[in-house]
Amino acid sequence: MKNLTSIQPSTTKPARLAALKQSFQDWSSGPDLLTRVTKRLSTTLSLESQLSMVAEEISATIPFDSMQYRHRIARQDFVFSTGMGGPHRCEYRLTLEGTHYGCLTFHRRQKFSDEELAGIEMMLSAAICPLRNACQFIAIEQAALTDSLTGIGNKRALDEELKRAAALADRLGAPCSLILCDLDHFKLINDNHGHVVGDHILAKTAEKLEQAIRNSDTVYRFGGEEFAILLPHTGENEARDVAERIRMALEAIRVDGGETPLTVTASCGVAMHLVDEQPEQWMARADEALYRAKAGGRNCTRVFASIS
Ligand code: GH3
Ligand code: MG
Ligand code: MG
Repeated sequence: MKNLTSIQPSTTKPARLAALKQSFQDWSSGPDLLTRVTKRLSTTLSLESQLSMVAEEISATIPFDSMQYRHRIARQDFVFSTGMGGPHRCEYRLTLEGTHYGCLTFHRRQKFSDEELAGIEMMLSAAICPLRNACQFIAIEQAALTDSLTGIGNKRALDEELKRAAALADRLGAPCSLILCDLDHFKLINDNHGHVVGDHILAKTAEKLEQAIRNSDTVYRFGGEEFAILLPHTGENEARDVAERIRMALEAIRVDGGETPLTVTASCGVAMHLVDEQPEQWMARADEALYRAKAGGRNCTRVFASIS
């Protein structure tokens, strides 16, 4: 069998082995402060937990009144804050190998001395690699939940959010509605104008949907030309009005299509979450309403009424 690794099992070097043993003993028994910090940070990939640890470790040596961290990761602002106030401040832009990993600010009532600032910098030098890993982990998690064509949530994100929204609606007894929105005769657009134009219309659709909803609502592309909008604290009548607003916003899309501009229409299905209803059943009722909208001639909205 072929050896898959490039490590050759040549002779062991006794001196190096002894040095390794000694180094392991030092590392595990009484590690120096900075080794302890990096070891602690490397136990988690949660940026929030790491920042709590950084705050704890730094304040044990250099007391401060508050610490704030801010970084934009995958289109979202990540903010962490601990403590309150202090008129004096020092700020660090965390950078590793040319890439920025956020801004960290410390505040305090007394001025920071040069020695203290040097101490903070030493701690941050030890923390930067684990912090980079935690930032990258968030970016990877976010990418797994994002549709690459439109930048909005994908099917996986929708499934997770439906579960969360159903549980929350049951717990709070608050209404929550789902709109499914499917572009009409989209295959024809691809057939007549090509996939690039089709993709452009899908991106425009996502953009319009995001503009049409409130901050608390979320939008997903869960199929080729199929979009979902989740509306917390929204009953079915209000959701129908939103669906109609969305439908009209999509009708207003104009894309260059040669002689005449291209337009699209969409059909919408609405369902409000029922008590103790599983996400799959909720989705199936919204899909049924969408089917009725298609059967009813397309470019319209139908609601799966909660009381028939
Ligand atoms: P209906 O009104 O019944 O929904 O008709 P439709 O043509 O929209 O529906 P159908 O399910 O027959 O076809 C969906 C089409 O969506 C097929 C495919 O060409 C197109 N589509 C799916 N995913 C993508 C994509 O990522 N990019 C592009 N350009 N087209 C896509
Ligand atoms: Mg369609
Ligand atoms: Mg479809």
